[in-house]
Amino acid sequence: MGNELAHSVTKLLEQFLDCMSTYVVPLTASRIAEGKGKVFGAAILRKSDLSLVIAECNVDVECSLWHGETHCVKRFYELPTEGRPSPKDCYFLTTHEPCSLCLSAITWSGFDNFYYLFTHEDSRDQFDDPYDMKVIQAVFRTPAEGESSEARERRELYNRKNEFFEATSFAELLEDVTDAHDKDRLERKTDEMRMTYANLMDEQRKNKIGFALE
Ligand SMILES: [Zn+2]
Repeated sequence: MGNELAHSVTKLLEQFLDCMSTYVVPLTASRIAEGKGKVFGAAILRKSDLSLVIAECNVDVECSLWHGETHCVKRFYELPTEGRPSPKDCYFLTTHEPCSLCLSAITWSGFDNFYYLFTHEDSRDQFDDPYDMKVIQAVFRTPAEGESSEARERRELYNRKNEFFEATSFAELLEDVTDAHDKDRLERKTDEMRMTYANLMDEQRKNKIGFALE
């Protein structure tokens, strides 16, 4: 865990889930209903009081660069400079572990963290999106000398902790919750959010919006 957390892990996870259900899910649901959104969402919160700065979701039918995270970064920088917090003073929340485009956008924008609910494997297995992993593997995973293809496959996809940011999954936050009652409650709440996204994905599939890479 990061050593600069101003809030307990319990409070962080609770607020992240509340932020998703209050802001990200309704926005995503309405965009999907309009036929122009995908389930991938993001939000930026102030570290100080965990209040929302901006929430967005994927609209890559408009432009292939507007993934949930990049669209959120774009909207963040469209806010008036006055009153807009520094990225360093914000938490970056994302429903799905960022792809290489979004990892870079988060890095280049100066956010020093991100937190995600679904892993790349979840995106591949539950959200019809094998491309996040495929692109990282194809573009960035250069073979080390003498390394077998099996060993290369087993390597971590990217550095979740590096000099620019620290990436943390909701599952890791949950592991660090010490109070048994809180842990139980937050586990149920996390499972409910997973169900919410499974349902949103069912709605998205009706729109038959694919990926540019297909
Ligand atoms: Zn992305």
